[in-house]
Amino acid sequence: MHAWTAPEVPGLPVAGPSVQVHDTATGGLVTVAPHDGPARMYVCGITPYDATHLGHAATYIAFDLLNRAWRAAGHDVAYVQNVTDVDDPLLERATKVGVDWVALAERETELFRQDMAALRVIPPDHFVGAVESISLVVDLVQRLDAAGSVYRVDDDLYFSVTADDAFGEISGWDRDQMLAVFGDRGGDPERPGKKDPLDCVLWRAERPGEPAWDSALGRGRPGWHVECTAIALQYLGSTFDVQGGGSDLVFPHHEMCASEAQVAEPGHRFARAYVHAGMVGYDGEKMSKSRGNLVFVSALRNSDIDPAAIRLALLRHHYRDDWEWTDAELWAAVDTLADWRRALALGAGAPAGPVVSAVLEALADDLDAPTALEAVDSWVAATLGQDGLADTSDPDAATTVYRLLDASLGLAL
Ligand code: ZN
Repeated sequence: MHAWTAPEVPGLPVAGPSVQVHDTATGGLVTVAPHDGPARMYVCGITPYDATHLGHAATYIAFDLLNRAWRAAGHDVAYVQNVTDVDDPLLERATKVGVDWVALAERETELFRQDMAALRVIPPDHFVGAVESISLVVDLVQRLDAAGSVYRVDDDLYFSVTADDAFGEISGWDRDQMLAVFGDRGGDPERPGKKDPLDCVLWRAERPGEPAWDSALGRGRPGWHVECTAIALQYLGSTFDVQGGGSDLVFPHHEMCASEAQVAEPGHRFARAYVHAGMVGYDGEKMSKSRGNLVFVSALRNSDIDPAAIRLALLRHHYRDDWEWTDAELWAAVDTLADWRRALALGAGAPAGPVVSAVLEALADDLDAPTALEAVDSWVAATLGQDGLADTSDPDAATTVYRLLDASLGLAL
């Protein structure tokens, strides 16, 4: 499917440093850089049954920072994102509100595109739906079957997690930790007939009233994890640099994706790094559908909130932190942008060189946007003379800082 219109990304006067991010699998910082060709990134996409909330936006903006840091370091980037446009939550929502599931998915996917474009997120090169990837999934399930890792429960096909010796290495969790969340995150640990409660469904046979496609596996539809595995292998190859998503995808989603890929492509690690964004809360709880405490990007945009202020408010928090959204932070971001625009309008300002270095270094150091923003705040304060001593010693400062904010932080002022 088509993605959204790409924002322009201006060039910078200097190249950024090589990029390090926190890898969940090893628990430490790793340098992520292309091995041959572009840097390759897969970020798990939405299930389009509801509008983009701020938790989603924070995640996609985090990986947008990585995309921009790679570009600043001089790398080309190959970026792939899926859309889970057929799955249980989507079908359940469509039934509940009495709309056709295809129409619901198309409507919400379009709203997501508009939100991402407004937030100046660089679009993926391949934005791929599950429905359009069914033949890829079928091929992959057949390869997994040939590798002896597939079995049948009634007419559904399951992946046997014991087929991958490395199963568990992404999360680092023990079985009790895995079993504690598996049922709440799309798994069915209680189902009779499974070889291991943690095995995940690859192909769900047709049920009355549910969509299904004819295939060599019988009529049915793809499981969730195998969709991402198939799309990533197709568009990024056996091994790529970063798989990203929210921290609620560590297990089972990214663990299962990796194990399926590693069984299908023996000897290849799936992603070199697994990078996870924290959860955004509101009113004391993680922002989630079931709690009904979502703040939607589109609702803020419809209230004439400057999307740059939404983006800035999100960037004030480190992507790996769990934190709570407050309206006060949004209003603070609106005020900050007014100050920044005032400083940029002067043309001349405090020397731009140090703020360029500070921002690029902070972002290359595990996407540390809060530290990058503090460097910009300092430049603005010096330029406006908030200590009583305005510094306008660099006649071209504003042009450089404007390009820096746009290219590195996605803030086009
Ligand atoms: Zn995924």
